[in-house]
Amino acid sequence: MSVVRTRFAPSPTGVLHIGSVRAALYSWLYARKMGGSFVLRIEDTDKERSTQAYTDAIIEGMEWLGLTWDEGPFHQTDRFERYRAVAQQWLEQGLAYRCYCSKERLDKLRAEQQANKIKTRYDGHCRDKAEGDLSKPHVIRFKNPLEGAVEVSDAVHGLVRVQNKEMDDLILIRTDGFPTYNFTVVIDDADMKITHVIRGDDHLTNTPRQINLLKALGAPIPQYAHLPLILGKDGQKLSKRHGATGVTEYREAGYLPEALLNHLVRLGWSHGDQEIFSVQDMIAHFDLDHLSKSPAAFDIDKLTWLNHHYIKTLPLEQLVSPFKTQLQAVGVSESEVELAHCSPVAVLSAHRERAKTLKEMAECSRYVYHMPAYQQNAAQKHLVKEALPILEALVDQLTAISAEDWTSAVLHATIQGITLAQGVGFGKVAQPIRVAITGDTASPSIDQTLALVGKTEALKRLQAAIHWIANHTQTTLKSVEN
Ligand code: GLU
Repeated sequence: MSVVRTRFAPSPTGVLHIGSVRAALYSWLYARKMGGSFVLRIEDTDKERSTQAYTDAIIEGMEWLGLTWDEGPFHQTDRFERYRAVAQQWLEQGLAYRCYCSKERLDKLRAEQQANKIKTRYDGHCRDKAEGDLSKPHVIRFKNPLEGAVEVSDAVHGLVRVQNKEMDDLILIRTDGFPTYNFTVVIDDADMKITHVIRGDDHLTNTPRQINLLKALGAPIPQYAHLPLILGKDGQKLSKRHGATGVTEYREAGYLPEALLNHLVRLGWSHGDQEIFSVQDMIAHFDLDHLSKSPAAFDIDKLTWLNHHYIKTLPLEQLVSPFKTQLQAVGVSESEVELAHCSPVAVLSAHRERAKTLKEMAECSRYVYHMPAYQQNAAQKHLVKEALPILEALVDQLTAISAEDWTSAVLHATIQGITLAQGVGFGKVAQPIRVAITGDTASPSIDQTLALVGKTEALKRLQAAIHWIANHTQTTLKSVEN
C-alpha cells in the first residue's frame, strides 16, 4: 500500500474555526498513526476575502495545538502558473473549452430553468464550438462526462453515487484569469499525492466533480471521509451565537490544547466509551472505521471539565508559560512574577484543584503577586472588631518565625495555637487572615496561602488589615507597627 498522505487545506478568510480544527486533527492523527505525512495548504485563491492576518492566525493556531505539518505551508497563490498550465493542456486535449456566454445569456438561462422548475445548470452552449476570439472575455470550462455515474466511497457516508448528467460543465478559470476552488483543490491533491481527504461534509457535493477532474488528470482517487457538522448544544450549526468558535479565543480564555483536542476528537469518532485521550492515545487508537455519521454537539461544560482534568494532571512545568501569559492578562507584571516569594509551579500546584481554566488560575492566584483591593462584602464580614485580637496575635507570632521555618506546617501549627489560646473555631481565625492576605474569602488552605505570599509580604498585609479595621471601626489598637 502507498504511504499515507493527508492534508489540511484551510481558506484564510476567517479565524481558525474549531470545526476546521477537527478536520485538521483527524487528518493529522491519521497521518501520524499510519507513519505518513501531513501537508498544510493555504487555499488563498479568494483574493477579496483572504488576508495575511488570517493566514498567520491559522499557522499560530496549528502550532499552539501541536498539529505539526511535514510539508508546507503551501500557498495556492504561488501555484497559479501550474493551474493555468493544466487548463491549457486540457484545452489542447479537448477536456476543456472556452465559454463566451455572456452574463445576460446565463441569467436568462437560469430564469427559464427556474420557471420550468428544473435544476439550474449550464447548458453546454459553447461545449462543441470552435475556439472563439481569445481577446474577448471568456471562462474555461471542464467537459464533464455526459454519460455514466461517479461513485464516491466515503468512510463516513458509505457509497455515494451521482449521475454525470446531474453535473454541468464546471468553470476552471474565471474571466479574470483566476482558477476556481474545485480545480485548484484537485490539482493540489494530485500533485501533493494526497491519499486520504478528510474534511467537512459541506464539501461532499463537490466530491463527484472533483473525482471527474482527478480522472482527467490521470490521478488516483483518494479515500474520502466527510465529517458531519459540529453543532451547538441546541442542535443548530455551531456559530458565534454559541460562544467562541475561533481557536485563539479558547487559548485566551485559558483552555489547554490538550483539552480542546480531546473534546474535538470525540466529536465524530469513538473508541468504546473512552472519554479521555492524551494525544498519544489518540494516535494509537484513531481510525477511519469508527467515524460517526450523525452530527455531534460541542459542549463547553465538557470542554471545561476536560480542561480541569488536564490542569490537574499535566506536568506543572508545561503549564508555566501559558499561566504567565494569563497572569499578564490580569495585570500581573513579569517582574512581579520574578520577584514573587514562590515559583509559578508552586502557585499552580496550590490552585490546580480550584481553577478550571488558566484564566481562573490567574484570577484566583493574583494575590500571590500583589495585594488586590478587598472585596467589599468579604471585608465587611470578616475584617471586624472581633478579628483584631486574632490578627494582632498572629502578627506577634509570625514575626518570630524565621524565614527558613516559613512553611505550611509551621504556619498551620501557629494558627492552631491561636485558635486554642483564644477559644475560637478555625474558621473564625482563617477567614479574617484570608481576606487580609488575598482580599477575598476563597484561597487554598490558610497556611498554604501564607506560605505562598512569604513572610515579609504576609506581615505587611496583616498589619494593613489591622489598620483597616481600626479606620473602619471605633477601636483603639493594642499596638500597630508600621
Ligand atoms: N479550503 C476549503 C475550506 O476551507 C477546504 C477544502 C478541502 O478540504 O478540500 O473549506
